[in-house]
Amino acid sequence: MAKANIGIVGAGIIGLSTALNIQKRLPSAKVTIYADRFDNETTSHGAGGLFRPNVEHLLGVDPDTVTRWSVEGFKFYSSLASSPEAATSGQMIMPGYVFSNTPVKDPLYKRLVYSFRELTAIELQKLQVDYKYGYQVTTVITYVPVFLPWLMVKFKDNGGRVEKRTVKSLEEFVGVHDMVVNCSGFRSRDLVGDKSVYPVRGHLIRIKAPWIKYWIYTEDSAYIIPGYDEVSIGGIRQKDNFNLEIDPKDTEGIKERCYKLWPSLKEAPVLREWVDLRPHRDPLRLEQQVIQYPSGPLKVVHNYGHGALGITLAWGTSIDAANLVVEGLTQPGSKL
Ligand SMILES: Cc1cc2nc3c(=O)[nH]c(=O)nc-3n(C[C@H](O)[C@H](O)[C@H](O)COP(=O)(O)OP(=O)(O)OC[C@H]3O[C@@H](n4cnc5c(N)ncnc54)[C@H](O)[C@@H]3O)c2cc1C
Repeated sequence: MAKANIGIVGAGIIGLSTALNIQKRLPSAKVTIYADRFDNETTSHGAGGLFRPNVEHLLGVDPDTVTRWSVEGFKFYSSLASSPEAATSGQMIMPGYVFSNTPVKDPLYKRLVYSFRELTAIELQKLQVDYKYGYQVTTVITYVPVFLPWLMVKFKDNGGRVEKRTVKSLEEFVGVHDMVVNCSGFRSRDLVGDKSVYPVRGHLIRIKAPWIKYWIYTEDSAYIIPGYDEVSIGGIRQKDNFNLEIDPKDTEGIKERCYKLWPSLKEAPVLREWVDLRPHRDPLRLEQQVIQYPSGPLKVVHNYGHGALGITLAWGTSIDAANLVVEGLTQPGSKL
């Protein structure tokens, strides 16, 4: 096969992970990333980065597939976390607690993470929380503000190219690339007119609290997740809300819920606040398509709509996206 020429739209965690997996499968391919937002301008940058896959946040995908993606993700993140590379790639093995007023029954992540066990009544009492059930969970946290630049360096070191531009239509790539991978996240609504992508609005407050060395997640919308030198507190999940402005009522609600969980957080200075839209789609879109444009056909692989699990599932879904690219380029019987 001649040297493949592949374009990728998107430089968030999905675009960059897909790019690296394509380079792994096709080392001689020419790969170009097109994006108009990078690093702290992306949704990926602001995510808490907790590896905690659960099927209820990923509707429409069969549990075996979610498990397979999660297994790949955990393998990748945990191997980085336990290597010196973690100093620059952003992974941390960290214990934490899940609290709930109903039993957390056999979640998917239970079988994947380093440890999962229910807390005793005495342990719950010592932690001074107002929940009936608690679980001690050790998992991987990815500090995305350093992980995105790390992925980008790897991509460029492998010979990848980057072009900063807004893509108005994928038709721009007809005759330019053998195949294009669409990793445009929430904006696939406009780029490919997919209105089944819907927002679940989130809001994080980054605080300076270096004494926090474990994470907390409650089943009723509060979380505290340490990063490298800051801690994220949050817990807003508003379906079909497109508002990208900070709502002071949400700020107050997050502070109230998180300060109740960990009163000393009141002393922590607020560094910044961030609002963004989780790109949900039921199911997320991972498939091949040939789009017939007036100027000609274009082979496309879509990889978007990861909702609340984009960090968790980026690596696993990107392996599948790279496989679809290879299949589309090489198999005579393929749809492409
Ligand atoms: C508050 C909050 C907390 C979260 N916490 C977690 C968590 O703890 N764990 C977890 O797994 N997930 C979490 N998520 C979800 C995760 O952030 C997303 O699923 C993920 O970032 C989606 O990545 P993406 O690459 O698809 O999109 P993005 O990061 O938005 O990247 C999209 C890219 O496409 C480019 N693009 C789009 N359209 C065009 C165009 N027309 N032309 C050029 N470029 C274009 C953009 O410039 C950008 O580079 C959280 C999300 C939020 C909002």
